[in-house]
Amino acid sequence: MKTFCMQFQKIIEKAENGYSLNREDCRYLLQLDEKSLEAGILRATASSIIRKKNENSAIILGQIGVDVKPCSGGCQFCTFGEKHTHFNRIQMSEDELTKKIEEFCHYDDLYGLYLMTMHDYDMNYYLKCVELARKIAPSTTQIWANVGDTSIEGYKELHAAGVTGVYHVCRLREGIDTNLKPENRIQSMRNALDAGLELYTCCEPIGPEHSVDELVDNIFIGIEMDIFQHAAMRRVAVPGAPLAHYGQISELRLAQIVAVIALASATIPTMAYMGAHEPNELCYTAGANIITAESGANPRDISNDTAKNRGMDMARCRKMLFECGFDYLRRGDESKIPLNFDYLMKTDSLQ
Ligand code: SF4
Repeated sequence: MKTFCMQFQKIIEKAENGYSLNREDCRYLLQLDEKSLEAGILRATASSIIRKKNENSAIILGQIGVDVKPCSGGCQFCTFGEKHTHFNRIQMSEDELTKKIEEFCHYDDLYGLYLMTMHDYDMNYYLKCVELARKIAPSTTQIWANVGDTSIEGYKELHAAGVTGVYHVCRLREGIDTNLKPENRIQSMRNALDAGLELYTCCEPIGPEHSVDELVDNIFIGIEMDIFQHAAMRRVAVPGAPLAHYGQISELRLAQIVAVIALASATIPTMAYMGAHEPNELCYTAGANIITAESGANPRDISNDTAKNRGMDMARCRKMLFECGFDYLRRGDESKIPLNFDYLMKTDSLQ
């Protein structure tokens, strides 16, 4: 029987006993070889702790890109960066947005719907999209915003229109691989909280060139705030994006990072769910319990409608969560739906 080094055992015991992991603990766990037995134990421990916290439930989020154009954010990994994009402006029509929201909400099992747009965005158009979404989606689906840097007043307007949460990140190498300032990104996260919105953040977009120290610093930006959700996202080598030459980390490595973030954030009182982008089974057995279905344009895809390419639809999301052993889906009001074979049949999710 293999014996593990004392430091590894101590960190795992700490997590199992409900104590917070510090930066040094996270550094140690991230340095493990993702193929090692220790990394396997780490992933299993994170999964078990997160599942126990929430009666083995998972949630499905939907994201719709509603207004895209060459983006001044200029992120060198993103399909919309203004210097390398092939996209022209596409504003989704009311009819198209209505149809997409109805598709996402058809079985009333969507926890939250993100409306995504660019760094500089048209607030009037965006507010109309929020109002439409709030009108069409059931009250059990929350509406969330994925928009550029925004003032407290701007977030308050979104809140008044029906938005309850915001996805916002300070990216890895923000200001180096992007045109944006890290301090402005972090200020926007604070603005969202000050405007009374829930904050969902992520360590992203992770590539093979990022060091363990960079990951830890980025992960703790979220951990040191009152976040509602944390996540890890690997960078997709989008053809034509300047950083594509670095390639990608594996899903196994991503699952290890998910496990570390899940353990490090599990003790935050406001933290309820842990995400992984893009969805894959390894992450759902390593502490993740959020899956995202996507439609419209998406920063990781060269297609106008990611639902026809990289994006997963609701049926595939339900099926993946079932295969990964979750017992319940949660709606946005935290009510539970048993996730079993009958439910997959009823929701046409067995294909
Ligand atoms: S990641 Fe967001 S801010 Fe950066 S270029 Fe893409 S759309 Fe713009």
